[in-house]
Amino acid sequence: MAALGVKIWGCRGSISCSSPSIAKYGGNTTCYEILHNGNEKVIVDGGTGIFPLGLAWSQQKPVPRGNIHVFMSHVHWDHIQGLACCPMMHHPEADLTFYSHLDAIESIVQNIFKEPHFPVRWKDLLSKISFKIITPGETLQLGDLKVATLKQVHPSDSLGFKFIQKSQSLAIMTDHELELMDSKTTEATATFLNDVNLVLHDGMFTTEEQIEKKGWGHSAMDKVVSFCEGALGTESGQIIITHHAPYRSDKDLDDHEVRCQKIAKRNHNILMAQENKTYFCK
Ligand SMILES: [Zn+2]
Repeated sequence: MAALGVKIWGCRGSISCSSPSIAKYGGNTTCYEILHNGNEKVIVDGGTGIFPLGLAWSQQKPVPRGNIHVFMSHVHWDHIQGLACCPMMHHPEADLTFYSHLDAIESIVQNIFKEPHFPVRWKDLLSKISFKIITPGETLQLGDLKVATLKQVHPSDSLGFKFIQKSQSLAIMTDHELELMDSKTTEATATFLNDVNLVLHDGMFTTEEQIEKKGWGHSAMDKVVSFCEGALGTESGQIIITHHAPYRSDKDLDDHEVRCQKIAKRNHNILMAQENKTYFCK
Protein backbone atom coordinates (compact mmCIF):
# COMPACT_ATOMS: atom_id res chain seq x y z
CA MET A 1 0.00 0.00 0.00
CA ALA A 2 1.31 3.43 -0.91
CA ALA A 3 2.03 5.81 1.96
CA LEU A 4 -0.36 8.67 2.62
CA GLY A 5 1.12 11.98 1.54
CA VAL A 6 0.54 15.54 0.46
CA LYS A 7 1.81 17.44 -2.58
CA ILE A 8 1.99 21.19 -2.15
CA TRP A 9 0.81 23.20 -5.16
CA GLY A 10 0.63 26.50 -3.28
CA CYS A 11 1.60 27.51 0.29
CA ARG A 12 1.54 31.33 0.19
CA GLY A 13 -1.03 33.28 2.16
CA SER A 14 -3.02 36.42 1.26
CA ILE A 15 -1.87 37.00 -2.32
CA SER A 16 0.08 35.14 -4.97
CA CYS A 17 3.48 36.60 -5.77
CA SER A 18 6.44 36.00 -8.02
CA SER A 19 10.08 37.00 -7.62
CA PRO A 20 13.49 35.31 -7.82
CA SER A 21 13.71 35.84 -4.05
CA ILE A 22 10.80 33.40 -3.44
CA ALA A 23 11.59 30.80 -6.12
CA LYS A 24 12.34 28.05 -3.58
CA TYR A 25 9.16 28.21 -1.46
CA GLY A 26 6.93 29.40 -4.30
CA GLY A 27 4.33 32.12 -4.79
CA ASN A 28 1.03 30.32 -5.43
CA THR A 29 -1.69 30.58 -2.80
CA THR A 30 -3.08 27.64 -0.88
CA CYS A 31 -3.68 24.36 -2.65
CA TYR A 32 -2.76 20.88 -1.40
CA GLU A 33 -3.25 17.49 -3.06
CA ILE A 34 -3.69 14.45 -0.83
CA LEU A 35 -1.85 11.40 -2.19
CA HIS A 36 -3.55 8.17 -1.17
CA ASN A 37 -4.41 4.68 -2.39
CA GLY A 38 -7.67 5.35 -4.20
CA ASN A 39 -8.33 6.66 -7.74
CA GLU A 40 -10.24 9.72 -6.65
CA LYS A 41 -8.44 13.04 -6.58
CA VAL A 42 -8.51 14.80 -3.21
CA ILE A 43 -7.64 18.49 -3.01
CA VAL A 44 -7.68 21.05 -0.20
CA ASP A 45 -8.48 24.62 -1.30
CA GLY A 46 -8.66 26.41 -4.63
CA GLY A 47 -5.93 29.07 -4.31
CA THR A 48 -3.82 29.87 -7.37
CA GLY A 49 -1.95 26.57 -6.86
CA ILE A 50 -5.01 24.73 -8.20
CA PHE A 51 -4.16 26.11 -11.66
CA PRO A 52 -0.88 24.15 -12.12
CA LEU A 53 -2.55 21.15 -10.44
CA GLY A 54 -5.46 21.28 -12.90
CA LEU A 55 -3.13 21.86 -15.84
CA ALA A 56 -1.06 18.75 -14.95
CA TRP A 57 -4.31 16.77 -14.61
CA SER A 58 -5.69 17.97 -17.97
CA GLN A 59 -2.45 17.23 -19.83
CA GLN A 60 -2.59 13.52 -19.02
CA LYS A 61 -3.98 11.49 -21.92
CA PRO A 62 -6.55 10.31 -21.18
CA VAL A 63 -7.35 12.42 -18.13
CA PRO A 64 -7.47 10.25 -14.98
CA ARG A 65 -10.81 8.63 -14.17
CA GLY A 66 -12.41 9.16 -10.79
CA ASN A 67 -14.17 11.99 -9.05
CA ILE A 68 -12.39 15.12 -7.88
CA HIS A 69 -13.07 16.12 -4.27
CA VAL A 70 -12.21 19.69 -3.31
CA PHE A 71 -12.28 20.36 0.44
CA MET A 72 -12.53 24.09 1.14
CA SER A 73 -11.00 25.28 4.42
CA HIS A 74 -12.94 28.54 3.83
CA VAL A 75 -13.48 31.00 1.00
CA HIS A 76 -11.22 33.99 1.64
CA TRP A 77 -9.76 35.20 -1.69
CA ASP A 78 -6.41 33.40 -1.35
CA HIS A 79 -8.26 30.08 -1.07
CA ILE A 80 -10.52 30.48 -4.14
CA GLN A 81 -8.47 32.64 -6.52
CA GLY A 82 -7.38 29.74 -8.74
CA LEU A 83 -10.85 28.35 -9.46
CA ALA A 84 -11.86 30.60 -12.38
CA CYS A 85 -8.96 29.50 -14.58
CA CYS A 86 -8.51 25.95 -13.25
CA PRO A 87 -8.63 23.60 -16.26
CA MET A 88 -10.72 21.10 -14.27
CA MET A 89 -13.59 23.59 -14.03
CA HIS A 90 -13.72 23.77 -17.84
CA HIS A 91 -13.15 20.10 -18.73
CA PRO A 92 -16.04 17.83 -19.86
CA GLU A 93 -14.45 14.79 -18.14
CA ALA A 94 -14.14 16.49 -14.73
CA ASP A 95 -16.64 15.53 -12.03
CA LEU A 96 -16.02 17.82 -9.05
CA THR A 97 -17.53 17.96 -5.59
CA PHE A 98 -16.85 20.96 -3.33
CA TYR A 99 -17.07 20.43 0.44
CA SER A 100 -17.54 23.40 2.78
CA HIS A 101 -19.02 24.38 6.13
CA LEU A 102 -20.72 27.37 4.47
CA ASP A 103 -24.39 27.00 3.52
CA ALA A 104 -23.85 29.51 0.69
CA ILE A 105 -20.91 27.63 -0.91
CA GLU A 106 -22.81 26.93 -4.16
CA SER A 107 -23.65 30.59 -4.82
CA ILE A 108 -20.16 31.69 -3.68
CA VAL A 109 -18.48 29.47 -6.31
CA GLN A 110 -21.11 30.28 -8.97
CA ASN A 111 -20.51 34.01 -8.45
CA ILE A 112 -16.87 33.60 -9.54
CA PHE A 113 -18.15 32.80 -13.05
CA LYS A 114 -20.01 36.01 -13.68
CA GLU A 115 -19.48 39.24 -15.59
CA PRO A 116 -17.95 41.76 -14.98
CA HIS A 117 -15.36 39.60 -13.18
CA PHE A 118 -15.05 36.64 -15.55
CA PRO A 119 -16.17 36.04 -19.15
CA VAL A 120 -17.12 32.33 -18.90
CA ARG A 121 -20.53 31.96 -17.32
CA TRP A 122 -21.45 29.29 -14.76
CA LYS A 123 -24.02 27.69 -17.07
CA ASP A 124 -21.41 27.34 -19.84
CA LEU A 125 -18.86 25.39 -17.76
CA LEU A 126 -18.22 21.96 -19.28
CA SER A 127 -17.42 20.13 -16.01
CA LYS A 128 -19.94 18.49 -13.69
CA ILE A 129 -19.94 20.27 -10.31
CA SER A 130 -21.77 19.46 -7.08
CA PHE A 131 -21.61 20.69 -3.48
CA LYS A 132 -21.73 19.12 -0.05
CA ILE A 133 -22.16 21.07 3.19
CA ILE A 134 -20.03 19.75 6.06
CA THR A 135 -20.98 20.10 9.70
CA PRO A 136 -17.69 20.85 11.53
CA GLY A 137 -16.70 17.72 13.45
CA GLU A 138 -18.26 15.45 10.81
CA THR A 139 -16.18 12.55 9.41
CA LEU A 140 -16.57 11.48 5.78
CA GLN A 141 -15.47 8.31 4.00
CA LEU A 142 -14.04 8.36 0.45
CA GLY A 143 -13.26 4.72 -0.36
CA ASP A 144 -10.37 3.72 1.94
CA LEU A 145 -9.73 7.32 2.95
CA LYS A 146 -11.42 8.79 6.00
CA VAL A 147 -11.72 12.58 6.28
CA ALA A 148 -12.24 14.11 9.75
CA THR A 149 -13.03 17.82 10.15
CA LEU A 150 -12.45 20.43 12.84
CA LYS A 151 -13.78 23.97 13.30
CA GLN A 152 -10.82 26.35 13.57
CA VAL A 153 -10.37 29.90 14.87
CA HIS A 154 -10.55 32.25 11.88
CA PRO A 155 -12.79 35.16 10.79
CA SER A 156 -16.02 33.52 9.47
CA ASP A 157 -14.55 30.17 10.69
CA SER A 158 -12.41 27.73 8.76
CA LEU A 159 -12.15 23.95 8.66
CA GLY A 160 -9.13 21.80 9.47
CA PHE A 161 -9.00 18.40 7.79
CA LYS A 162 -7.47 15.10 8.87
CA PHE A 163 -6.99 12.40 6.24
CA ILE A 164 -6.69 8.87 7.58
CA GLN A 165 -5.61 5.80 5.62
CA LYS A 166 -5.19 2.60 7.68
CA SER A 167 -2.68 3.47 10.44
CA GLN A 168 -1.43 6.71 8.83
CA SER A 169 -2.93 10.17 9.13
CA LEU A 170 -2.10 13.70 8.11
CA ALA A 171 -3.75 16.99 9.01
CA ILE A 172 -4.09 20.15 6.93
CA MET A 173 -4.76 23.05 9.27
CA THR A 174 -4.47 26.26 7.36
CA ASP A 175 -5.91 29.55 8.65
CA HIS A 176 -6.16 28.70 12.35
CA GLU A 177 -5.21 31.23 15.05
CA LEU A 178 -3.85 29.08 17.88
CA GLU A 179 -3.32 32.17 20.05
CA LEU A 180 -7.07 32.90 20.23
CA MET A 181 -8.31 29.40 21.07
CA ASP A 182 -10.53 29.04 24.13
CA SER A 183 -10.06 26.00 26.39
CA LYS A 184 -12.64 23.93 24.49
CA THR A 185 -11.01 24.60 21.09
CA THR A 186 -7.54 23.98 22.55
CA GLU A 187 -8.62 20.57 23.74
CA ALA A 188 -10.44 19.75 20.47
CA THR A 189 -7.40 20.80 18.37
CA ALA A 190 -4.96 18.84 20.54
CA THR A 191 -7.17 15.72 20.35
CA PHE A 192 -7.51 16.16 16.57
CA LEU A 193 -3.71 16.21 16.21
CA ASN A 194 -2.86 13.50 18.71
CA ASP A 195 -2.63 10.57 16.28
CA VAL A 196 -1.28 12.35 13.18
CA ASN A 197 2.06 11.51 11.57
CA LEU A 198 2.27 14.77 9.65
CA VAL A 199 0.65 18.14 10.21
CA LEU A 200 0.69 21.08 7.85
CA HIS A 201 -0.17 24.08 10.03
CA ASP A 202 -0.69 27.79 9.43
CA GLY A 203 2.29 29.75 10.73
CA MET A 204 2.00 32.92 8.69
CA PHE A 205 3.48 35.29 11.26
CA THR A 206 6.45 35.83 13.52
CA THR A 207 5.52 36.25 17.19
CA GLU A 208 5.79 40.08 16.90
CA GLU A 209 3.63 40.19 13.75
CA GLN A 210 1.02 37.95 15.36
CA ILE A 211 0.62 40.35 18.30
CA GLU A 212 0.19 43.24 15.83
CA LYS A 213 -2.27 41.28 13.65
CA LYS A 214 -4.24 39.57 16.39
CA GLY A 215 -7.65 38.47 15.13
CA TRP A 216 -6.56 38.08 11.50
CA GLY A 217 -6.87 34.32 11.90
CA HIS A 218 -3.23 33.22 11.67
CA SER A 219 -0.69 31.73 14.07
CA ALA A 220 2.91 32.57 14.89
CA MET A 221 5.52 30.00 13.83
CA ASP A 222 6.87 29.53 17.38
CA LYS A 223 3.37 28.88 18.69
CA VAL A 224 2.83 26.24 15.97
CA VAL A 225 6.02 24.45 17.07
CA SER A 226 5.14 24.46 20.78
CA PHE A 227 1.46 23.60 20.33
CA CYS A 228 1.91 20.87 17.71
CA GLU A 229 4.85 19.32 19.58
CA GLY A 230 2.67 19.09 22.66
CA ALA A 231 -0.31 17.70 20.73
CA LEU A 232 1.39 15.11 18.53
CA GLY A 233 1.48 11.72 20.18
CA THR A 234 3.97 10.41 17.63
CA GLU A 235 7.67 11.05 18.44
CA SER A 236 8.73 10.95 14.79
CA GLY A 237 5.99 13.22 13.49
CA GLN A 238 6.54 15.98 10.93
CA ILE A 239 5.37 19.55 11.56
CA ILE A 240 5.28 21.59 8.36
CA ILE A 241 4.62 25.32 8.66
CA THR A 242 2.58 26.82 5.83
CA HIS A 243 0.54 29.85 4.60
CA HIS A 244 3.71 31.94 4.33
CA ALA A 245 3.34 35.73 4.37
CA PRO A 246 3.72 37.13 0.82
CA TYR A 247 6.64 39.34 1.90
CA ARG A 248 8.65 36.44 3.39
CA SER A 249 11.70 35.63 1.20
CA ASP A 250 13.39 32.24 0.72
CA LYS A 251 16.24 33.48 2.92
CA ASP A 252 13.76 34.47 5.69
CA LEU A 253 12.02 31.11 5.50
CA ASP A 254 15.32 29.18 5.52
CA ASP A 255 16.33 31.13 8.66
CA HIS A 256 12.97 30.50 10.34
CA GLU A 257 13.23 26.79 9.55
CA VAL A 258 16.61 26.54 11.32
CA ARG A 259 15.31 28.64 14.23
CA CYS A 260 12.12 26.55 14.62
CA GLN A 261 14.16 23.32 14.58
CA LYS A 262 16.29 24.77 17.40
CA ILE A 263 13.32 25.66 19.63
CA ALA A 264 11.75 22.21 19.16
CA LYS A 265 11.90 20.19 22.36
CA ARG A 266 11.11 16.77 20.95
CA ASN A 267 12.27 14.72 18.01
CA HIS A 268 9.82 16.08 15.44
CA ASN A 269 10.95 17.12 11.99
CA ILE A 270 10.05 20.80 11.57
CA LEU A 271 10.01 22.21 8.05
CA MET A 272 8.73 25.18 6.08
CA ALA A 273 6.28 24.11 3.35
CA GLN A 274 7.68 24.28 -0.18
CA GLU A 275 5.62 24.51 -3.35
CA ASN A 276 5.97 21.47 -5.67
CA LYS A 277 7.30 19.32 -2.84
CA THR A 278 5.70 16.08 -1.67
CA TYR A 279 5.72 14.92 1.95
CA PHE A 280 4.75 11.43 3.11
CA CYS A 281 3.70 9.99 6.46
CA LYS A 282 6.55 7.92 7.83
ZN1 LIG B 1 -8.38 33.17 5.56
